[in-house]
Amino acid sequence: MKPAPFTYSRPADWGAAVALLQSGARPVAGGQSIGPMLNLRVVQPDAVADLRHLPGFGGVALSGGLCRIGAGTTHAAIEDDAVPGRLGEILAGVARRIAYRPVRNRGTIGGSLAHADPAADWVAVLPAFRGSAVALGPGGERRIALADFVMGLMETALRPDEVLRAIELPTLPAETRWGHWKFCRKPGEFSKATACVLAVPGEVPRAVLAALDEAPLVISDASALLAAPEAEAARIANAVPGLSPWRAALARTALKRAAAMVLETA
Ligand SMILES: Cc1cc2nc3c(=O)[nH]c(=O)nc-3n(C[C@H](O)[C@H](O)[C@H](O)COP(=O)(O)OP(=O)(O)OC[C@H]3O[C@@H](n4cnc5c(N)ncnc54)[C@H](O)[C@@H]3O)c2cc1C
Repeated sequence: MKPAPFTYSRPADWGAAVALLQSGARPVAGGQSIGPMLNLRVVQPDAVADLRHLPGFGGVALSGGLCRIGAGTTHAAIEDDAVPGRLGEILAGVARRIAYRPVRNRGTIGGSLAHADPAADWVAVLPAFRGSAVALGPGGERRIALADFVMGLMETALRPDEVLRAIELPTLPAETRWGHWKFCRKPGEFSKATACVLAVPGEVPRAVLAALDEAPLVISDASALLAAPEAEAARIANAVPGLSPWRAALARTALKRAAAMVLETA
């Protein structure tokens, strides 16, 4: 199939991008998710706004303990160490397991988050960090905690006239421990259950359980999971409503293995 006709615009600045969204245009970043949706006519916008040429759309900047990752930064750039330090090591490890390289060359961290597929890797992992999504709308910028950004299946806290401009994450000390387990049938496939655990020295450890067809489950204090992984992983997975037994088993095992990765590096 071919997409239904639409008007194509390439805003030159962020104000023009927001104005286009206000007039009903659909933003496009890497096109890796919206492209197929347009072709299948799952979405039929009258206009699209191609964000790729906005100044600072991609790229990484460090300032005052915060790492600002432009929404248009590709998975491939993150895989290739665009983000420095321990945070960058962790993110590169996540990025290199997204799909395969041609998809990673075009797909963006912001597009993935805004798309809010519960099985997507950034959706599953970013809430583990005490960071924010930076949204820009007609009233200016606002920050949304990453733990609150994805609200459900393809549903985010972004307003229709807001564009996701950046993701801000705290930089991490070298001693930060990280566990990440993604269940998929073959490498590069969408996950059937993902868990991650982040243990930053001096902070309460956090965990996320995701890819369960709904918003990620953020465990803001994962101390119990690290103290008793077997029992706690079972308790958490069993409490997710509506999971079939095999998905619950994957969720439990993903959590247990992510916790084990953190404990092994203690
Ligand atoms: C074959 C294939 C395999 C894949 N496998 C995986 C996988 O294993 N794991 C995984 O995580 N992903 C996977 N993906 C998805 C891929 O990671 C996409 O890059 C991602 O989902 C969307 O990013 P994008 O930049 O292409 O966004 P687009 O497709 O351009 O946009 C996606 C959605 O987000 C909106 N949007 C985009 N950018 C913004 C913005 N800055 N502000 C507001 N709204 C915005 C668009 O309007 C659209 O609704 C796969 C894709 C393909 C084609």
